[in-house]
Amino acid sequence: MTQSCGLMGDGEKPVKIHHLVKAPENTPESVASRESWDASKPVTVYKTPENLPDGSPCTAVTVILRTKGCAWWWKSGCTFCGYFNDVRDDVTSEDMFSQWEEAKRKTENFKGCKMVKVYTSGTFFEDRENPPEWQEHVLRETYEMGLHLVVEAQAQMCTEEKLAWVAERHPGCTVAIGLEAYDNTVLRFHANKGFSIRQWHRAVELLRENSLRVKTYLLFKPPFMSEGDALEHTSKWVMEVSKISDEVSINPMNIQRGTIVDRLFRNREYRPPWLWSLVEMIVRTHADVSNTDCRVIVHPTAGGKTRGSHNCGSCDSEVVAAIERYSVSGDLREFTGLECECKKAWHAEIQSDATLPAPMGAGIHRRGNPLDRMRAP
Ligand code: SF4
Ligand SMILES: [Zn+2]
Repeated sequence: MTQSCGLMGDGEKPVKIHHLVKAPENTPESVASRESWDASKPVTVYKTPENLPDGSPCTAVTVILRTKGCAWWWKSGCTFCGYFNDVRDDVTSEDMFSQWEEAKRKTENFKGCKMVKVYTSGTFFEDRENPPEWQEHVLRETYEMGLHLVVEAQAQMCTEEKLAWVAERHPGCTVAIGLEAYDNTVLRFHANKGFSIRQWHRAVELLRENSLRVKTYLLFKPPFMSEGDALEHTSKWVMEVSKISDEVSINPMNIQRGTIVDRLFRNREYRPPWLWSLVEMIVRTHADVSNTDCRVIVHPTAGGKTRGSHNCGSCDSEVVAAIERYSVSGDLREFTGLECECKKAWHAEIQSDATLPAPMGAGIHRRGNPLDRMRAP
């Protein structure tokens, strides 16, 4: 085809997703915001109700730290990840220790809590991101305090040597991996995740060998995917990954500032998932998941808000509450009687997505530029 028709672009070399991801990090606003915060204080510390590995309810503390950030982000980065807003490359080991002390001070040494989630906007046990002496301190201290520890990691960082090191210092802790999608094409072209399914399987094997717990995050509706496809794919992924995980947490997309998905959203080319899609996915996967020992939770961050998973506005709080209740009870009756006029619009959208060849989706929030839409991959 000649370039003159214009439909396939103007002959310029295509922009790599890598460069699109990296762009927002150096805007003056982004730099100013990153340099404004105090490196001796954590981003946030809060308590939530949780379940221990044996299923008993408890209170958990979540500590989100200000760190040097994810090594993958500095190299390339995931299309939906806005963690770079909270990181800075001049954080010192001393800062990390004082953030940890501040978290303990704020919670009176995690009083009344049996679980602590330590989130570092990257991989907890990656030495370029977090000082090893600080990692060691947190692992040992939380173990001595009798707290169940949850940390996060990228699959390729779960090496034999490092996991053995972690397991020696905090036996039985949970390692949560943001798999996002159980599909290599989606990992590469929608999420720019930086690892493959094979690497994730290897990480799970190594976690098992070291008697560590496996938590898997899935992302509902990555960019460049229609609502109908998200529902089909994620339902399949949940059934696959729950067979080999101790816990699966499905995160419906919420749009974080300065990300690729934020740009699509502002250009009216992306709508965060409908809450009805989440309900439908839960109903479709419930029987399969109930046959495993895996706990599946769906947590719609910013549920009901424009940048989070939402419906029409009037039924949102009721549907979010039912989804949250299901994550605790595992009982489909939580959804009994939930109805709203907007369900018809949602249903029409997923039906269109299943029958019309519109790669970005057929929903009304996918207006954008019609020519760009036709050329979308
Ligand atoms: S691996 Fe995690 S922290 Fe790193 S860019 Fe991706 S989502 Fe963000
Ligand atoms: Zn509604």
